Amino acid sequence: METKITLSLPTDSDGFITQECPKCRRKFKVRYIKPEKGEVPKLLSYCPYCGFNGNNCFWTREQTEYIQKIAMSKIVGPMLDKFGRRLEDTSNGFIKIDTSTKYQKYAIVPREREGLKKFNFKCCNETIKILENWDSNLYCIICGKEVEFNGWE
Ligand SMILES: [Zn+2]
Ligand SMILES: [Zn+2]
Repeated sequence: METKITLSLPTDSDGFITQECPKCRRKFKVRYIKPEKGEVPKLLSYCPYCGFNGNNCFWTREQTEYIQKIAMSKIVGPMLDKFGRRLEDTSNGFIKIDTSTKYQKYAIVPREREGLKKFNFKCCNETIKILENWDSNLYCIICGKEVEFNGWE
């Protein structure tokens, strides 16, 4: 059985979401745009700073916790509720089974901070936001191509 959950994370005023590299721990921001019909969705696959390659691993700790809690409340929660109700149905006057749910129903939405500077990767026409004091080469977050960084215009 496959369950799909849709959840939304808050973005900054430009529609960007903070991501963090699991290797170098630096933060950057990307935009998650729904692909047009027939368009191949662009996948965030590389860290722009160190070129670390991976999928679905760039969430910050706060985002990961949030996603896990949402998943818990949407999938595990209703399952526990059902299980709990069944237990209560079978309990009689002598034995009372208390099935207070221990999972967290409400997750705290991670706050999105402003800041960082826009940078466009021409190879994939992808705009991200990176640290303002960055002064070294970058890696395209989609295709991993190394791009020379010549400072801010
Ligand atoms: Zn990195
Ligand atoms: Zn690229």
